[in-house]
Amino acid sequence: AAALGAQARNGSGKPAYKDAGRPVEERVSDLLSRMTLEEKVMQLNQYTLGRNDNANNVADPVDKIPSEIGSLIYFDTSPELRNRLQKKAIEQSRLGIPVLFGYDVIHGFRTTYPISLAQACSWNPALVKQAAEVAAQEARMSGVEWTFSPMIDVARDGRWGRVSEGYGEDPYANAVYGVAAVEGYQGDNLADSRRVAACLKHFVGYGASEAGRDYVYTEISRQTLWDTYMPPYQAGIEAGAATVMSCFNDISGTPGTANPYILTEVLKERWAHDGFVVSDWAAIEQLRSQGVAADRKEAAEKAFNAGVEMDMMNRCYDAHLAALVREGKVSQEKLDEAVRRVLRLKFRLGLFERPYTPESEETDRFLLPASLAVAERLAEESMVLLKNENNTLPLKAARRIAVIGPMAQNRLHLLGAWSAHGREEDAVSLFAGLENEYRGRAELLYARGCDFDGEDRSGFREAVAAAAAADVVVLCLGEKKQWSGENASRSTIALPEIQEQLAAELAQTGKPLVLVLSSGRPLELCRLEPLCGAMVQMWQPGIRGGNPLAGILSGRINPSGRLAMTFPRSTGQIPIYYNRRQSGRTHQGKYQDIPSTPLYEFGHGLSYTTFEYGDLRPSATTLRRGEKVTVEVSVTNTGGMDGAETVHWFISDPVCRISRPVRELKHFEKQPIRRGETRTFRFEIDPEKDLSFTDGDGNRFLEPGDYFILVKDKKVKLTLTD
Ligand code: BGC
Repeated sequence: AAALGAQARNGSGKPAYKDAGRPVEERVSDLLSRMTLEEKVMQLNQYTLGRNDNANNVADPVDKIPSEIGSLIYFDTSPELRNRLQKKAIEQSRLGIPVLFGYDVIHGFRTTYPISLAQACSWNPALVKQAAEVAAQEARMSGVEWTFSPMIDVARDGRWGRVSEGYGEDPYANAVYGVAAVEGYQGDNLADSRRVAACLKHFVGYGASEAGRDYVYTEISRQTLWDTYMPPYQAGIEAGAATVMSCFNDISGTPGTANPYILTEVLKERWAHDGFVVSDWAAIEQLRSQGVAADRKEAAEKAFNAGVEMDMMNRCYDAHLAALVREGKVSQEKLDEAVRRVLRLKFRLGLFERPYTPESEETDRFLLPASLAVAERLAEESMVLLKNENNTLPLKAARRIAVIGPMAQNRLHLLGAWSAHGREEDAVSLFAGLENEYRGRAELLYARGCDFDGEDRSGFREAVAAAAAADVVVLCLGEKKQWSGENASRSTIALPEIQEQLAAELAQTGKPLVLVLSSGRPLELCRLEPLCGAMVQMWQPGIRGGNPLAGILSGRINPSGRLAMTFPRSTGQIPIYYNRRQSGRTHQGKYQDIPSTPLYEFGHGLSYTTFEYGDLRPSATTLRRGEKVTVEVSVTNTGGMDGAETVHWFISDPVCRISRPVRELKHFEKQPIRRGETRTFRFEIDPEKDLSFTDGDGNRFLEPGDYFILVKDKKVKLTLTD
C-alpha cells in the first residue's frame, strides 16, 4: 500500500510517468516506484539489435531480446526493425518503458566526415559542431538517439590505432572539440527529433595504453591524470554531455570500469554529472581478466559499486545484480539511483512520447546538399600541407599529371574506421577529384604502382612509365582503413616498405613528386620526405575528400590545416608531444642517431601565402589576482593569395612548485585573412583558469610570479602579484 501511495495518477487515471506535462524528476520517481527489482535491473543492460559489422561481436536474435531491456546497440539503419522491437517493449512489457537505441556515430552517419584526428587539424570547432549536428540529424531520423561519441582521449602514441578517433595530443584541443561535438549532437533540447545524446569516452586514460597496444594497462600518475587526461572530460561534463563510457584499461592498477574515484567521487560527486555511465563493450566481464574479480558476479558488484550504471553487452548485471541487491552487496538506494539516471535520459529524449521512428524514404534524410557541403569544407580545412619546396605546389602549369599509388582510385579507405553507414560508392576518390578539377586543362595518367602492402613490384614499371611521360607525379600513398581504429595498433607508424619503394623508384625519374598521404595516424616520413617536393597529409577525409584535395593541388584552395598531433622522425621517438615537461640539461633529451626534434611539430602546416606576425600587445604586463589581461597580435597576409591562419596561444610557467610543461595550449582561433589584409587575434587571459595548475587531486593553484604568453616566435612576460 505504501508503494501504491507513492504512485501518482492524474484525473484521467493515467499514471504520472506517462504524463508529459509533469516534470521529468517527478515522472522518474513515479515510474521507479512501480518497478520490480528485476525490471529495474533490466534497465541497466544493453544488448545489440540487427546487422553487426564488427566481426568480433555477435548480434542478439530479435526474438530473444526481452521487452524490458534498457538499451540496444542498434546496428541497422532500418527504422522498421527498430520500431518492431520498440513496439515489443511498449506493448509487451508491464510498464511499457521505451528502449534507448545507441550506436557508434563517430564521424558522420551516412555523410561520412573526416576522422576526428583530421577534424582537429581544422582548428575550426564551429565546423566540427556543424558536422556533429548533421550526424545527429541523420542518425536520429534513422532511429538512433544516443551516440557513443565524442572520444576525447588525449593520445600521444601514434602506434595506437585509436588515435584516429580522438582530437590529438593536446588536452585543451580535445576539450574544445569535445564540447563542440557535444553541442552539435545534443543542441539544447534532447527531445528535438534532430538531436542525439552524446557519450564521452573512454573515461579515462585509454590513450595512455602502454606501447600503443590496444586494451592494455596504463601507467598514469595522479598528476598526469589531472594535467592531461581529465580536462577534456571535465569540459564535456560542463557542456552537458548526457552520458560517459568507462574505459577498458586500468589506471595504474585500478581498471577504469571498477574505479570509484573516477566514476563516483570525481564524475558524480564533484562534477555533479546527472547522466549515467555505460561500460565499454564487455568491460565488466573483463575485470576478471584484469585480475580484480574472481567471477562475473564479483565483476558486476565491483563495476556497479564503482559507478557503472549500464552493462554494455555482457550480461553480468542481467545475471547477478538482483542477487547482489538481495544479498545486500549492492544497496537498494544505489540501484534506484542508477535506474533513475537511465530513465531520466529516456524522458529527456522524449522517448515516452515519441518512441517510434518515422519510416520515411532514405533520400529524405541522407547526403543532403548542405550536409555534403559541410563534409567538403571540413575535409578541406583538415588537410595539412606538410612540405612545399620551391613552390612545387600548386600545380598550375602542368599539362600531364601522373596520378599513381594504391590510394589514388581507392574510395573505401577514405572513410576511415567507424564509418557507420558511410558507403564507398558515395565517396569521391582522389583521382575523381583531380579529373573534375583538371578537366580540359591537363591530361591525367593513372597507374596503381602497387598494393597497400605485400611484395608485388610488378606494377612499378607501368608507374615509372607514366611518371616519365608526365610533367609531375602525384603519388597517393597511405593506410587501409582497417589499420587504424579499435584493435588496430601498429608497431611502426611507417608505411609498408612496398609503398616506400614505389616512391623511391618514381623519384629516380627526376620528375617533381607530390606526395598525398591518407592515414589514421601520424606517419614516419623520414625516408619519404627527402624524395618529394611537396607533401599533403589528407588523413581519412570522408566521402568528399577527393574534391578539396584536388583543389589544394590546383591552387583553387589555399590549405589551412595545422597538425593536432606531432609527426616524429621515427617511431622510436614515440611518445613525442609538444607539451612535455621541462627537464634538466638539454631540454629535449638527445639520441645518438637522429635529432631529438620531431619532423613536424604540433601546429605545423604550410600555406600558399605568407603570414607575418606583429609583436604581442598585452593590455597590462603586471596583474593582481582577480584581474584579467588581454593580449593581442596582428597577423598580416603578406603573400599572394587569400588564406586562413590559426593562431595558437600557449603559456609557460617557468618556475612553479612542480615542474610544468614547456608550453601549454590555452586558446586558439582561426580567421580568414585576405591578401594584404591585417587581422587582430585576441586572447583574454583569466589567471584563475589559464595560469593556474592542478595537483594530483584536481585542486587548482595559482602562484604569483612570471608567466610567458607565446605565439609562434613571439613572447611576452606577465607578472602576477598577490
Ligand atoms: C569500443 C567503443 C564502442 C563500443 C560499442 C567498443 O569495443 O571500445 O568505443 O563505442 O565498442 O560499439
